[in-house]
Amino acid sequence: MDAARTHVWKPLLHQLAAGSFDTHAEEIEYLAQARWNHFKFRLGSLVGVDRQQKTLQLAASYDEAGREITPAQQLSYDTLVIAVGSQTNDFGTPGAAEHTIKLDSPQAAKRFNDRLINACIRAQTVPRIAGSGRLTVAIVGGGATGVELAAELHAAARVLASYGFDHIHPEKDLQIVLVEASPRLLVQLPERLSEAAMRELRKLAIEVHTNEKVVEVTADGLKMASGKVVSSSITVWAAGVKAADFYAPSEQV
Ligand SMILES: Cc1cc2nc3c(=O)[nH]c(=O)nc-3n(C[C@H](O)[C@H](O)[C@H](O)COP(=O)(O)OP(=O)(O)OC[C@H]3O[C@@H](n4cnc5c(N)ncnc54)[C@H](O)[C@@H]3O)c2cc1C
Repeated sequence: MDAARTHVWKPLLHQLAAGSFDTHAEEIEYLAQARWNHFKFRLGSLVGVDRQQKTLQLAASYDEAGREITPAQQLSYDTLVIAVGSQTNDFGTPGAAEHTIKLDSPQAAKRFNDRLINACIRAQTVPRIAGSGRLTVAIVGGGATGVELAAELHAAARVLASYGFDHIHPEKDLQIVLVEASPRLLVQLPERLSEAAMRELRKLAIEVHTNEKVVEVTADGLKMASGKVVSSSITVWAAGVKAADFYAPSEQV
């Protein structure tokens, strides 16, 4: 079972966010997979497990118009495997929940892409903004997701340039800022790879801040512990993961 009807492989979400990936061509339809591979698929979000009775509860699912697709269901199991992935962790940083996009789902990646294109259209249409300088995308977190997104966005600027904006030039006017709390990028990887990634990002004119913890996010940008401030049109939070909320000890799961 899955909360979504289709699956997009998460390591491709940064490409979806940047607009260089077509979900309709690449996403996997669970129903078709089930038919081809001889298993049953049930649509619905897991909301409860009764381990004594060996049953689980799925919430009702709805379409964008709020119409019910499937009602709440109870299913029985012999062996249960839970593989619901992780969620982005903003560590309760003030403003992060309200003012950042987290690349947790295809919907969030698409939302980012819409905001990027809309920001370009706004800058194109309102000369005051167009004249005021660059569109800045700030990315919090210099792990694999943040680094890949920064590099992919640089490539995406070329695609945006082909939209034919004449007041802005996305290749020149899209500024990407990456902020990492550790002393180096890709801290899980060997140091030489962090250095290579840093060199490549700098070649792409991406502004990288290491050793800088983000302490607050607002609608207009972010603030670092050192007091430095970055103004941004869009801020992405890619600085950590945590388990799904329903694993909390008070729940039955
Ligand atoms: C931008 C980005 C780039 C990445 N790049 C890499 C990389 O290069 N290499 C790498 O190894 N890893 C990468 N990762 C991490 C990798 O995507 C994850 O580690 C991997 O997807 C985890 O797989 P999973 O099957 O555990 O969870 P997921 O792929 O997250 O799948 C979980 C599934 O559970 C479903 N679900 C969630 N909650 C419920 C619920 N309550 N009820 C029912 N269904 C539910 C979701 O709809 C989803 O289909 C990247 C992640 C991102 C976001």
